[in-house]
Amino acid sequence: MNNKKMFEQIKTIKKSNPDNLMARYFSEEYFLSLDENKQERFIKIINSGIENPDSQMGAYAMAANDYADFAEFFDLLIRNYHQIPNEKKIEQSHDWEFSNSVCNLSEIDERLIDVSMRVRVARNIKDFPLPGAMNKQQRLDFEKLVIKAFVKLAEHAGFDGQYLSISPNSPFEISAKEFQRRVNSHQMFKDMSNDAYLNSAGISNDWSYGRGMYINKAEDFIVWVGEEDHLRIMCMKKGGNLNEIFEKLYVAVELLEEYLPKFATLPKYGNLASCPSNIGASMRASLHMKLPNLTKNGTDLSLIKSKAKELGLAVRGVLGEHSDADASGTVDISPSARLGVSEKQIMENLYEGAKALWLLEKTQ
Ligand code: ADP
Ligand code: MG
Repeated sequence: MNNKKMFEQIKTIKKSNPDNLMARYFSEEYFLSLDENKQERFIKIINSGIENPDSQMGAYAMAANDYADFAEFFDLLIRNYHQIPNEKKIEQSHDWEFSNSVCNLSEIDERLIDVSMRVRVARNIKDFPLPGAMNKQQRLDFEKLVIKAFVKLAEHAGFDGQYLSISPNSPFEISAKEFQRRVNSHQMFKDMSNDAYLNSAGISNDWSYGRGMYINKAEDFIVWVGEEDHLRIMCMKKGGNLNEIFEKLYVAVELLEEYLPKFATLPKYGNLASCPSNIGASMRASLHMKLPNLTKNGTDLSLIKSKAKELGLAVRGVLGEHSDADASGTVDISPSARLGVSEKQIMENLYEGAKALWLLEKTQ
């Protein structure tokens, strides 16, 4: 595609899909100010948003240094998504000290005692390209590297478990049926080869080489390997005590940091990730909440989405991003901002958001 055609296409998307942040903030002058090599890199970054006009972000980083090299562009999308006003500096500070903030959902209502809670962080290794630009060999090498770290992690109490690979011919390979069972139980990520957004970004290339998951015996701790980021490290269980899963996640992240090569980070952007929505604390903390009144028994998410947005929360369906609610009206709610907020603030934002939505649900 020549530049002129691309400019026209983005202009059209800007009109038809004003929420596509790539199209909203794309500037011809900026693009033309880049040298040829950078223009080529930039086109790869924005390709998904061009091929999928209904994208929310519309841009994926292909390498950790893309964030620094194209900061002028990324900052516009980042400020919008993470709700950081222009007068405020973009910066990330971390706070994993949760003990002085009790977030137990049963204090909101005893009925919230066994909500499904999940908290995950994204991590990427500095010395590998991000998943959109990895070749098959790099995906396989990366998987080998993490398997070694999992062997060490398994020696720690609470983290003993097994690695399940979907990489063809891996010694840890699981059957297609077992893969599907793990997807249905929300433990494993979906088949990415059908995801148009990830396909356009190259993130699902070489499917399913180098992909898999680690899971502990208690099945409350999981690491995804080779999804949208190199690693998605998560704790997930039914209960009401958010502190418990956040604290466990911290232990695991510290251990993996010790056992793996350096993670990609920048003081300004915190942890780097493929999607600018996932940088910073890189943390998405979610609850599967049953909200039949706010969702018209799962048939209409427009009301809950607008209420949640006012509270800084995003709503997803029960099968994750781009899925629908189920007939019980269960939805996935999570704080949208992951940059400029600490891990502890995210836990508190989820707790306060859940409290506010629950009140609305009861009075609806
Ligand atoms: P992310 O991008 O944060 O990894 P996705 O929206 O892609 O999350 O969802 C990944 C999987 O995690 C899906 O199967 C989804 O249903 C599941 N999931 C997300 N939050 C929860 C939760 N609180 N409880 C149970 N499963 C969850
Ligand atoms: Mg996802």
